[in-house]
Amino acid sequence: METLTVEPRTSVKVDEKKIQEFAVMIRGQVITKNDKSYDEERKVYNGMIDRYPEMIIKCRDVADVINSVNFARENKMLTAVRGGGHNAGGLGVCDKGVVIDLSLMRGTRVDLKNNTIRAEGGCLLGDIDHATQQFNKAVPTGILSTTGIAGLGLGGGLGHLSRAYGLTIDNMLEADVVLANGKLVTASEKENADLFWAIRGGGGNFGIVTSFLFKMSDAGTVYGGPMLWHLSDGEEMMRFYRDYILKAPNSVYCYFALLTVPPVPIFPQELHLKKMCGVVWCNVGDLDKSKKAVDEFRKFKTPALDYAGPIPFSGLQSLFDGLYPKGLQWYWKADFVKELTETSIRLNINYGHKLPSTHSTMHLYPINGACHQVKKNETAFRYRDANWAQVIVGVDPEPANREKISQWAKEYWEAMHPHSAGGAYINFMMEEGQDRIKASYGENYEKLSKIKAKYDPENFFRVNQNVTPAK
Ligand SMILES: Cc1cc2nc3c(=O)[nH]c(=O)nc-3n(C[C@H](O)[C@H](O)[C@H](O)COP(=O)(O)OP(=O)(O)OC[C@H]3O[C@@H](n4cnc5c(N)ncnc54)[C@H](O)[C@@H]3O)c2cc1C
Repeated sequence: METLTVEPRTSVKVDEKKIQEFAVMIRGQVITKNDKSYDEERKVYNGMIDRYPEMIIKCRDVADVINSVNFARENKMLTAVRGGGHNAGGLGVCDKGVVIDLSLMRGTRVDLKNNTIRAEGGCLLGDIDHATQQFNKAVPTGILSTTGIAGLGLGGGLGHLSRAYGLTIDNMLEADVVLANGKLVTASEKENADLFWAIRGGGGNFGIVTSFLFKMSDAGTVYGGPMLWHLSDGEEMMRFYRDYILKAPNSVYCYFALLTVPPVPIFPQELHLKKMCGVVWCNVGDLDKSKKAVDEFRKFKTPALDYAGPIPFSGLQSLFDGLYPKGLQWYWKADFVKELTETSIRLNINYGHKLPSTHSTMHLYPINGACHQVKKNETAFRYRDANWAQVIVGVDPEPANREKISQWAKEYWEAMHPHSAGGAYINFMMEEGQDRIKASYGENYEKLSKIKAKYDPENFFRVNQNVTPAK
């Protein structure tokens, strides 16, 4: 696996007595190697990541977060911050240092008068969906309910509602942030506006977000779900999909996927283990209009599987959770894509035929529609002219297949990269070094680096897709 070259991952060892004294101040839990739960607590979602921190602090409230930051800084400990623990490269955990974990902070508060929801920094997407679905509302986030809002939301946040309502960051109104010096500040358009700009795409570089305030939008029941076609029709379907989604109204959303049908009862037996292509829909608004959009695909070529129909938004958001439990081996590669040329369509389908395991997949998430209504320099997330975020993931339960799935993802990416927009969505990348990070932020990198120097001059928050402080 590629390693980060920016900053040495050094950490000073802290003696046990000091840790015990500190633990008294914490409302949550301090877990060290002596604890029975240590081995379980150090694990993150990606089973390929195997790191051994000195201690894990499970914070209960903002005071715990502040005390943890101060303790780690004063003792020169390398510090990782964990929200949902889903990060591709396992950036929610580190070797030797400390993990500041927010998984006990999952509270939400819906405010119907102002049409907003406040979500604590350890919330999973499902926590937000659960709270908002009750009122037929939603916040645009990702496509799996077990992902953390903090990591996802600070990197951009794209998924089922991106074309209708924009990225997660486009719906962020405010965030409470604990800075590297232990101070708690609020970031919004009115307060610390530079910090607010930076955390909308800049990841965990600037501090620990203890709570977010998001705008809610109408969702309720959507017209959604998967539709699959045989891979022999792959090129034709991908072409049709491309032409369709580039012109579709913002209320229509479908991402394109290459996949192997899992051998589980919800899928017809004759399709089990077949390599296929498909789209997953999430159309908002009038259900008849939403259906008409889907019917165009049905008319073009009858799908081999058609599970699209009216579904509660939160149901769609958790539809695939069971297929991807914690602990699988994941190897990630990604790029932004502006156009799908004939060559790239042919290459994509070719690699679809070579999918190396049942869980491995490729998704092309459309990020046109409402995402294009925000200017490139309005938030740290810069690729506002890309039409898709592409992710290629080699996934398998067996550590023995690690090489096989990684090799497929690397080769696939190498073939596609020349046809891409250059940079990638930072939340779909493993640790690929500074050049890739800079390519992802483009001309916004310099401004991010200056803001980093203001809020975290010592690069205390460096276990992330690191933006180095300007000199
Ligand atoms: C199965 C799966 C599906 C996914 N689907 C989508 C998708 O549909 N759309 C999408 O946009 N992304 C998606 N992602 C990518 C996802 O956005 C990233 O993996 C993201 O980093 C996950 O956030 P987390 O909080 O779970 O991760 P963590 O591993 O906890 O943290 C990730 C990074 O965020 C930082 N961080 C975490 N919490 C905080 C906090 N409270 N304050 C400051 N920094 C913090 C950490 O330092 C770390 O650098 C998916 C990932 C997986 C594994």
